[in-house]
Amino acid sequence: MAVERTLAILKPDCVRKNLQGEVLARIQKAGFNVLGFKQIRLTREAAGAFYAVHKSRPFYSGLVDFMTSGPCVPIALEKENAVADYRTLIGATDPKEAAEGTIRKLFADNKGENVVHGSDSPENGKIEIAFFFSESELV
Ligand code: UDP
Ligand code: MG
Repeated sequence: MAVERTLAILKPDCVRKNLQGEVLARIQKAGFNVLGFKQIRLTREAAGAFYAVHKSRPFYSGLVDFMTSGPCVPIALEKENAVADYRTLIGATDPKEAAEGTIRKLFADNKGENVVHGSDSPENGKIEIAFFFSESELV
């Protein structure tokens, strides 16, 4: 299997609940290497651009509200098969549909406020990591 990179974000609900350490520990125990890690506050412009693929969806403006409601923590991760393995670790978008033991099942309140982001393909993993991190910040 190929070594891949994927972007995680500990979303504003994760930070508000002080779950950053707990969630990152689960990611690290699952074998992911942390290449980059920072806490930021997204502007509406940046959050809108990051989720531009969802621009026409009814939940888009609520998603931008949520993602700008407090600090979040983008994390660049690397591992063999990182994209699929990370999505397995976090579970389905809606915590009601997420498998037992997954991060979203354990910690998410609802489909919108679902604790973590994960890239959906290796190509998007690279693009999304570059959205938040310069090459010199990936070490
Ligand atoms: N989202 C939402 N309502 C929906 C679907 C998605 O608020 O009906 C939000 C949710 O925070 C989700 C994000 O939009 O994580 C991106 O949606 P996507 O379908 O890409 O889910 P993900 O890849 O995060 O599982
Ligand atoms: Mg997605």
